[in-house]
Amino acid sequence: MANEPLGFVGLGVMGGAMAKHLAEKGHRLTVWNRTPAKAEPLRGRAEIAETLEDVTRTARIILLCVSRTEDVLELVHRMAVTAQSDTLFVDHSTIAPRAARELAASLHDKGLHLLDAPVTGGSIGAQSGTLIAFCGGREEDFDRARPYLEAYTRTARLVGGAGAGQMMKMANQIAVCLTLLSMAECLSFADKAGLDLQACIELIGSGAGGSWSLQNYGPKAVVGDYTPGFSVANQQKDLRYALEAAREVKASLPGSALVHQLLAALENAGEGERATTALIEVLRSLSGQPTAIASISTRASLGNRET
Ligand code: NAP
Repeated sequence: MANEPLGFVGLGVMGGAMAKHLAEKGHRLTVWNRTPAKAEPLRGRAEIAETLEDVTRTARIILLCVSRTEDVLELVHRMAVTAQSDTLFVDHSTIAPRAARELAASLHDKGLHLLDAPVTGGSIGAQSGTLIAFCGGREEDFDRARPYLEAYTRTARLVGGAGAGQMMKMANQIAVCLTLLSMAECLSFADKAGLDLQACIELIGSGAGGSWSLQNYGPKAVVGDYTPGFSVANQQKDLRYALEAAREVKASLPGSALVHQLLAALENAGEGERATTALIEVLRSLSGQPTAIASISTRASLGNRET
């Protein structure tokens, strides 16, 4: 078994589950989280570092799963000061591809390495250890990281040089947001037309109109269950990076831009922590139907007024 000492930074919904798999597989692991309480479930199975810098003293491979580009840059630049030479950072956060490329170059100048390795599969995939990781970087760094990624992925693939993993994740998020729109538009129309929504999911879901989104998000959308899962705020962050990346490669993303604008209605109403499935409520509101989310219901309620 590969046996380099590992560090894990960022023990949120995704990172906490990944670190747990590493500990359970018997890897030598030091963990750190900004809010210390989230490290407690790992006590006894991993070393809990008091400071971020403490992680760099023992770990030779440091995995992280935090939130936005600026969080990754802040933490990795801080760790780079005390990291041992040849340390490999493996970043599972979803961040801007350009930032990942620039970070890899700046670490390389210091004798340090970065593998960008954003994941798909959500909290369920993290808990069951069945994530898919899109990796970007040098082949030797991928080979070095792969035995550890096996603890919580069903597939980890090197898809290109630095930043390519994040680019692949952008392509993933484009597909995800468009199947989300397809599910939401299909079901809000069916509802307005008075169709049986369970039948809709069953019949359409098994044919050419079917999708993962319709099968998995559809039943939740029907009952108005918008507990994340994957939040509107996270999807909007990812779509901002995707639209930025599209400008960079001179691609056009009309569908993703539309979903970004529709989800902005939820963000602007202070509903960013709801699951992305709540997109259906925006469409219901545009069709003049009552919505289950009061803060976006103005249009429907104005439409219903007899003045
Ligand atoms: P989360 O539960 O909110 O966890 C975020 C983690 O990052 C927390 O441990 C947080 O520390 C830490 N963090 C954020 N900013 C920090 C900073 N500036 N300094 C130190 N620590 C910081 O988020 P998540 O759902 O695990 O997502 C993590 C990443 O995975 C994101 O980039 C997300 O887009 C991506 N992702 C998420 C999913 C999903 O379904 N959730 C799926 C695929 C990819 P505190 O505990 O102190 O707040």
